[in-house]
Amino acid sequence: MGRKPLVAAKWKMHRNLENAEALAREIVDAVKVGDTVDTCICPVHVHLHVVREALRGSEMALGAQNVCDQTGEGAFTGEVSAEMLADAGCRYVIVGHSERRSIYGESDALVAQKFAVAKAAELVPILCVGETEEEREQDKTRTVLSRQIDAVTRLCGAQAFAEAVVAYEPVWAIGTGKSATPEMAQEVHAFLRAKIGEQDGILATHLRLLYGGSVKPENAEALFSQADIDGGLIGGASLEASKFAALCHTADECRA
Ligand code: PEP
Repeated sequence: MGRKPLVAAKWKMHRNLENAEALAREIVDAVKVGDTVDTCICPVHVHLHVVREALRGSEMALGAQNVCDQTGEGAFTGEVSAEMLADAGCRYVIVGHSERRSIYGESDALVAQKFAVAKAAELVPILCVGETEEEREQDKTRTVLSRQIDAVTRLCGAQAFAEAVVAYEPVWAIGTGKSATPEMAQEVHAFLRAKIGEQDGILATHLRLLYGGSVKPENAEALFSQADIDGGLIGGASLEASKFAALCHTADECRA
């Protein structure tokens, strides 16, 4: 179908100012995909400015890992608005990561609101969805994913998925070394595309669906060559420039 892959690095709560900038520079030097694959780095908020400097002049974009659900200025101590992230140079923002949902109690409705404010600030939201191991064992994967997607559709309309990205991240695969099999991931991605396609088939055909959860150079080719997998959201393996670069190069080779 010719969707351009996106490979996004998410450093979680890692690095300090100095070595975040150094790693971003190493990644820029190591990744040789030009504009055939979109790439981005999402560090913690306080590292955005140094990573932005490291990315200057490269094709790699900046992204954030979280955003406040409120717009404009106001009394929201400790929060950072979507407008502030855009002003800081971000193109992408991750919303609804499973750690935000499970550790910080973010509901589907709150995640949808974050998606909405990101869109309003012309950021590209990367909406994370995924089931826990228990939910998979109980055969609830589709129900959970539908609930997470429907919350966004209800608040923002299906058209909001244009210029957005959805990342399927099975919770049991994040940071565990235990990735979904390519067939398992493909089945879910096809389901997600069909689900959004019920609202708008053309939009769904163009929507980028990333897989996240223990992606590494050893399993990337099998995952990225699946028909409905358009790149990856990468945690652990993005903390090493050579591994992240290898994943970007694999996404380039697997382009449909
Ligand atoms: C993540 O934190 O979203 C993630 C996918 O991490 P990892 O690649 O380490 O599983």
